[in-house]
Amino acid sequence: MNNKNELEPTKILNSYLEEKGLRKTQERYLILDEIYKKNDHFDIESLYQLIIKKQKISKATIYNTIDILIELKLIKKHSFLNKTLYEKSFQKKQHNHLICNDCDKVLEFCDPRIQNIINSIESSMNFVVAEHSLNFYGKCNDPKKCKKI
Ligand SMILES: [Zn+2]
Ligand SMILES: [Zn+2]
Repeated sequence: MNNKNELEPTKILNSYLEEKGLRKTQERYLILDEIYKKNDHFDIESLYQLIIKKQKISKATIYNTIDILIELKLIKKHSFLNKTLYEKSFQKKQHNHLICNDCDKVLEFCDPRIQNIINSIESSMNFVVAEHSLNFYGKCNDPKKCKKI
């Protein structure tokens, strides 16, 4: 785990576990690894299904590691209507989401006008925005793939 080529998120997790005196179990690194291989938004169940194919793991370990990764800002937790999804967040650009009500697909978009809105709200309301989330719900235009799984 200690070579120069290791990914930055791995280093961050590594020093956190050392600092807190937590065990550096291989499972925790595997979870981080799988998350960073993904490019989409995922729920705990699908992450569990992915990892269990490779190695025996408990859901408790996944939940527990997810909490650590959120604290380290290596992943971000989203609440989309009644679903909780996560995504990797290390060096990821601020973005917003489009969520398809029919197939649960999540698309991302960036629009600089949103920053303009934030700037003008900050000055007119005398408020400092630390974070925001903006989600649009609707239907994706992908009739072939737009099916509930
Ligand atoms: Zn996203
Ligand atoms: Zn869809």
